[in-house]
Amino acid sequence: MNAQQEQLDWGSLGFGYIQTDYNVRCYWRDGKWGEWEVSSSDMITIPMASTCLHYGQESFEGLKAFRGKDGKVRVFRPEENAKRMQSTSQGILMPELPTERFLEAVDMLLHLNKRFIPPYESGASLYIRPLMIGLGKQVGVKPSNEYMFLMFVTPVGAYFKSGFRPTPMAIMRGYDRAAPLGTGTYKVGGNYAASLRSGELAHSMGYSAVIYLDAKEKLYIDECGPANFFGIRDNTYITPKSSSILPSITNKSLMQLAEDMGLRVECRPVHVEELETFEEAGACGTAAVISPIERVDDLDLKKSYIISKDGQPGPISKQLYERLRAIQYGDYPDTHGWVRIYPDID
Ligand SMILES: *Cc1c(COP(=O)(O)O)cnc(C)c1O
Repeated sequence: MNAQQEQLDWGSLGFGYIQTDYNVRCYWRDGKWGEWEVSSSDMITIPMASTCLHYGQESFEGLKAFRGKDGKVRVFRPEENAKRMQSTSQGILMPELPTERFLEAVDMLLHLNKRFIPPYESGASLYIRPLMIGLGKQVGVKPSNEYMFLMFVTPVGAYFKSGFRPTPMAIMRGYDRAAPLGTGTYKVGGNYAASLRSGELAHSMGYSAVIYLDAKEKLYIDECGPANFFGIRDNTYITPKSSSILPSITNKSLMQLAEDMGLRVECRPVHVEELETFEEAGACGTAAVISPIERVDDLDLKKSYIISKDGQPGPISKQLYERLRAIQYGDYPDTHGWVRIYPDID
């Protein structure tokens, strides 16, 4: 560990942005991807007529690298992020970056920025942000003929600084995140723009997130802003199936772990009134793994669903959270081959 690494106060890191040493870029031109370019600048210069700026041809991903007790660096299921980014490309007509190239970029970035990978004890991690934008100069609405793929990293703090605690979430029936046959299943910035207004309103009222219902009937649970939803009842892990939610890699992993732990797993439409029956519920995603839900207030119907009566997370949520974290940090056997280890990074 070098001197500069010790200067960062890992314990006080939030989920912000700290410039690291290098990022990598690659351009799609004339129908093919070019060579990697390594940059030490965190600026990009793009044409003002780029399609990403006008018509939202933009996709992104989010994954994390963890340093284990054994000093080894691990990344959780990066192939899944590569595949999901390819699916997003299909969804908004951008070129697909092959999985090998995606993994190459992760590999390069970790080596180039290894002094920013937080130590095990801090509970912090290195967030990896892949991004793709349309660069073609045009004002007509059609897919671009040029793209930039870019990947950067930034260290982020442990999500639960004051402990793994449930928080209240809100249903706001006057807002939708994504249309049933729209872009909800793709990881595009536009979905986030669509959810900012309701999200900020919910935050201002003391809620940690909005639970969006299906936009058509307002009967079924979709997801919690930037995270999927799950409920626990009768030893069963229940998570929504819908055409307007983003397939979370954390959720997919939790479904497997739930099964490993002897729970039944159901992926099906989840009626909003089922909230009444859940013994536990949570939001899941890369940022927090699991954010337990304390209660859900349906603001328009003036109805509250209390999930955690004592303000504590339920035992199954806690067990799932701890198991997944332990796999990510190398403290529990990775029986599903989820973790990619970088043995040559010290
Ligand atoms: C990224 C994302 C998630 C979480 O996915 P993970 O792969 O678990 O990080 C959930 N919902 C939305 C809308 C997202 O963009």
